[in-house]
Amino acid sequence: MTAGEILKKRWGYSTFKPLQAESVAAALSGRDCLVVLPTGGGKSLCYQLPAAIGNGLVVVISPLIALMDDQVAAAREAGLAADALHSNLKAAQKREAFANLAGGRTKLLYVSPERLLAGDLNGLMTARVTLLAVDEAHCVSHWGHEFRPEYRRLMEVFDQFPEAARMALTATATPAVQADILKQLGLRSPEILIGHPDRPNLIYRAFPRRDQFKQVLEVVRRHPGEGGIVYAQTRKHVERIAAGLADAGVSCSPYHAGLNAAARQKAQADFVNERLDVIVATIAFGMGIDRSNVRYVVHANTPRSVEHYQQESGRAGRDGEPAECVLLFAVSDLATHRFLAKKDAALPPERERSLERQLRDIGRYAVSPVCRHSLLAQHFAAPYPAPGAAQGEAGCGACDVCLGETKSLPKEEAVLTAKKVLSAAWRAEGRYGTGYVVNLLLGRVNDRMAANGHDLLKVFGILKDSGEAAVRSWIDQLVVQDFLEVTEEGEYPLLRITADGKALCRDEKTVVLGLPVPPRVKGAKKSKALKKAAALPGGMEPDEALFERLRAYRRVIADKAGVPPYVIFHDSVLIEMSAVKPRTLEELRGMKGIGERKLERYGALFLEVVAGRPVDSMELPDAADLPGPQV
Ligand code: ADP
Ligand code: ZN
Repeated sequence: MTAGEILKKRWGYSTFKPLQAESVAAALSGRDCLVVLPTGGGKSLCYQLPAAIGNGLVVVISPLIALMDDQVAAAREAGLAADALHSNLKAAQKREAFANLAGGRTKLLYVSPERLLAGDLNGLMTARVTLLAVDEAHCVSHWGHEFRPEYRRLMEVFDQFPEAARMALTATATPAVQADILKQLGLRSPEILIGHPDRPNLIYRAFPRRDQFKQVLEVVRRHPGEGGIVYAQTRKHVERIAAGLADAGVSCSPYHAGLNAAARQKAQADFVNERLDVIVATIAFGMGIDRSNVRYVVHANTPRSVEHYQQESGRAGRDGEPAECVLLFAVSDLATHRFLAKKDAALPPERERSLERQLRDIGRYAVSPVCRHSLLAQHFAAPYPAPGAAQGEAGCGACDVCLGETKSLPKEEAVLTAKKVLSAAWRAEGRYGTGYVVNLLLGRVNDRMAANGHDLLKVFGILKDSGEAAVRSWIDQLVVQDFLEVTEEGEYPLLRITADGKALCRDEKTVVLGLPVPPRVKGAKKSKALKKAAALPGGMEPDEALFERLRAYRRVIADKAGVPPYVIFHDSVLIEMSAVKPRTLEELRGMKGIGERKLERYGALFLEVVAGRPVDSMELPDAADLPGPQV
């Protein structure tokens, strides 16, 4: 069978995603390769498919022990003889995995780096290993964000299997990290397969923050019953938002380092197993979260860098279906990041410079009225749109700017508006904070202003008609573009015009300004969202009620098997089922995402649910047929 045929038979997919076919071909021809694909790009298939085709053993080194069992379960669902070995296994599981390995039955083995380095597996694997795949390969590099010292020693083991091809996989695309991976893992004239970093299924939105809770709630309300993550900067924010959402009847839980380990574990497990819709978390949450149908990620505060944003927002839509990423921006968050970074000790000058650069970049991302997909691609030095990708008149069609929710001011008006704001700051001589300048521009006099005689200035009330939200946002926009600065030398942060700002006032510079219109992103009708999610063709309409019943039954099976629901079927499969209402196994077989194994195990049962049988009267598949915790 060809790779394409196996893809259809085992996984139920009829086409490869970008670079999957190339990676598989490299592995099968024994060539080393580096695979860089964004989250959701389908990296697992790059080494799972060679395991399904070949006669040997594919060893996958992964640092995410928490995910390994789920990955094994998913691979077994595709009919692969898969096992995992790591420190959290029960004795019986370990014996079984060892027996399978010794008996030559294992095709795909997940191991933690520690376990591989222990050395006792080498004898068992000898002569059978055809591919050594290193997942999260950026962990080998100091330059990456998750350095793991054990990764540096992997090559010692690899060198004992000179015949085996090596495959390094990561979503991190910086050239320094890539070069490090090649060197540290000893890839031998590797094929370099670098995908485009864009995630076309994500809708990016960035708005100025006006009312944190209200804006978060708006997003959550757009996604009733769907999985979402809300990130906030501090525990206090997390607790406040989580309490508010709970009051509003949202199924949610807080998650931060101040909670005890049991509470954190419970929240995480409930979220992954879809017993909980929303997690409100500090960035302590995320590493190793594998819920593929997270439909939205909201940043209630500004993240620390574009890289952090990419990674955290990237947890949305791993299943490739549409998902939404919203960032609520305020300049004051940047000051908090500065404060936190320097709290314990002053930063060395180089670190300080890189911090400032990171903060400015994320600020620019958040306030520039420019297509967010293109800003992100630009940041990662990739062309946008991706070569070969179609793009219509309306830009990406998947960000607040291209969707017309954030408008930019016409050029002349932008310059004029900026000049008004800048002259107010200039007249205030850098002796006042943002609030004072806002009041000055809006024409709100107070005692202090009257005493200063500032209510007599020409700039007093000059932006009265624009409203406070717009004025505050323009100040933020001018700060991240370096026309204004916030200085914190004294007791209070003061707003001051910069040399660039003065140059702008003299028409020696130009500026772009966004006009944040309060977004009216109404929740689309659920069925429409579902339809889009499963990319259903024109004539087909999903049946919402049936979808919910299929989901309920899937949850019953998943709970029983102890695996996340997506391991049984992805959402898109259930949506399609609800639209097609198949009556026979043959009809099911043609559907995307249903491989032969799943068809055999669950096909007849899901047909009964489609036929109208109540979920609580349904039986479960035979225990022996269930995936999940290895026995
Ligand atoms: P990554 O590890 O790169 O984040 P995964 O391996 O988890 O990505 O795959 C992401 C999603 O894409 C999964 O839901 C997977 O089932 C799906 N997928 C993988 N390959 C294909 C394909 N060829 N066609 C359609 N969906 C695919
Ligand atoms: Zn866009």
